[in-house]
Amino acid sequence: DKGDMHAEVVVLGSGPGGYTAAFRAADLGKDVILIERYPSLGGVCLNVGCIPSKALLHAAKVISEADEMADHGIGFGKPQVDVDKLRGWKDSVVKQLTGGLSGLAKQRKVRTVEGRGSFSGPNAITVETGEGSKTVTFDQCIIAAGSQPVKLPFVPHDDPRVVDSTGALELDGIPERMLVLGGGIIGFEMATVYDALGSAVTVVELMDQIIPGCDKDIIKPLQKRMEKRLAAIRLKTKVTAVEAREDGLHVTFESEDGKSDTDRFDKVLVAVGRTPNGKLIDADKAGVAVTDRGFIEVDHQQRTNVPHIFAIGDVVGQPMLAHKAVHEGKVAAEVTAGHKRAFDAMVIPSVAYTDPEVAWVGVTEEQAKRDGIRYGKGVFPWAASGRSLSNARSEGITKLIFDPEDDRVIGAAIVGTNAGDLIAEVALAIEMGADAVDLGHTIHPHPTLSETVNFAAEMFEGTITDLM
Ligand code: FAD
Repeated sequence: DKGDMHAEVVVLGSGPGGYTAAFRAADLGKDVILIERYPSLGGVCLNVGCIPSKALLHAAKVISEADEMADHGIGFGKPQVDVDKLRGWKDSVVKQLTGGLSGLAKQRKVRTVEGRGSFSGPNAITVETGEGSKTVTFDQCIIAAGSQPVKLPFVPHDDPRVVDSTGALELDGIPERMLVLGGGIIGFEMATVYDALGSAVTVVELMDQIIPGCDKDIIKPLQKRMEKRLAAIRLKTKVTAVEAREDGLHVTFESEDGKSDTDRFDKVLVAVGRTPNGKLIDADKAGVAVTDRGFIEVDHQQRTNVPHIFAIGDVVGQPMLAHKAVHEGKVAAEVTAGHKRAFDAMVIPSVAYTDPEVAWVGVTEEQAKRDGIRYGKGVFPWAASGRSLSNARSEGITKLIFDPEDDRVIGAAIVGTNAGDLIAEVALAIEMGADAVDLGHTIHPHPTLSETVNFAAEMFEGTITDLM
C-alpha cells in the first residue's frame, strides 16, 4: 500500500488544535490531509468535552436559578426532566458544530482520512481505515493526538456504573446516588449538572480545596453554594477501594486522620485528570521523542526534536485547554508555511463553568505568596454591584493582582456568574501591559458585571473609598 496518499502537511487528530492547524495551513496554500480515528471531527472538545458539558451546564443553571427564585417571589415547582429530550438537544448542539467542521474542511479542500493513524517512518503514517490500511506520506506533520481520562488501578472501570467524563456526558440516566471522584474543573462541572438534574452527588477530593490551582478565597463562594446543594464535599479524603456489588458500588474513603468509612453509590464518575496520547502513535518510528508520561516536547514554534514534525494541544503539555490548543495550532500551521511565528502568549485563562463560575488568569495571589513575587491587589466584592444584586447572585468577588512597581495588572481571579466571560478583559489588559489607571479609567457600561473589573482596579488605586 506504498504511497497511497501524499500531502504537504498531514495533521494527526482533529480536535481544536488539529482542525485549526489543518484549516490555517490550507488557508496559507498548503495541501493538507487531516487524519481522525472517529467519524466526527472536533476531538474531545466538541464531541465529549467543552461543548456538550456546557450545554448540560446551561440546563443545570436554568434549573437551579428557577429553584432559587422561589425566595424572590417566583415559583415554578419541581423541574420535569425529560432525559431523552435533554440528551437529544445536547447531541444536536454537538452535531451542528462537528457537521460545520466537515463543511469547513471541504471548503478548504482539506482531505480527511478516517482511521487510527500511527507513524511508520519519519515521513509516513499508516492509517487503519474501514477499508484496510492506508499509508499517508507527508513533507511536514503536525501531531494533535490529544489526551484521554486517567484510569485508577483500584477502580472496576469495566463496570458500566463506573464512568469517565465521556460516559457522564452520555447522560444515560440520572443516578440516585452519585460519587464524583476528583474535585477539579471537570469533576465539579459534572457534579453541578447531575445535582441540578436530581442526583444526590458527593464530591471527593484529595487536596484541601476543590478546583486546585485557583485561590482559596475565590473558591469559597462556589464551595458555600454547592455545600448547600450537594450531598457532601469531602476534602483531604482518599478513595482507597471501589467494589462493584449487585446493590451498588461500595466505596471506601480514608480521611486525613487515617479514619476510614464506606458508602454505596449507583454511579461513580472518575475525574482525576487526563493523560496525553503521545505513547499511542508509534512516535519512535518517526524519531519523535516522547516523555515517560506520554507528552511530546516542543520548542516555541511547536517543533518536536524532528524538525519537520510539530506537535500541539493536550499532547504537548499543561494546561490542557482548547484555547491553548487552538493558538498552538495556528502557530504550527504558520511555521509549516514558512512564517516566522512563535507561541508567545503571556497568559492562558482557566475557567470552571460551575455555578458560580470561577476564572483566573496570570499570577494568582497564592502563587505570588509562594514564589515571593511582590504584588498589590484590588478586590471588589459583588455584594456592592448593582447588577449582581439585581441578578440575585451577589456572592461574587473580582480580584486583580498588580505589580506594585509600575501598577501593571499581572493577574486576576473572579468568581461569580459569567466570570469566564469577564476574565477575557483582564487577559487582554495583561497582554497589552495595561495598568490600574487604564482599567480604572476605562468607562464600563452600567450596570454590568464588567464594572467589577473597573471597580477592583479603583480599589487598588485607592480612588474608591465607599463601595457603591
Ligand atoms: P483532542 O481534542 O483530544 O483531540 C485529539 C483528536 O485526535 C481526537 O479526536 C482523537 O480521536 C484523535 N486521535 C488521537 N490519536 C489518534 C490516532 N492515533 N489516529 C487518529 N486520530 C487520533 N477545555 C477548555 O478549554 N474549555 C472547556 O470548557 C473544557 N471542557 C472540557 C470538558 C470535558 C468533559 C473534557 C474531557 C475536557 C474539556 N476541556 C475543556 C479540555 C479540551 O477538551 C481539550 O483541551 C482539547 O480538546 C484539546 O484539544 P487537542 O486538539 O489537543 O486534542
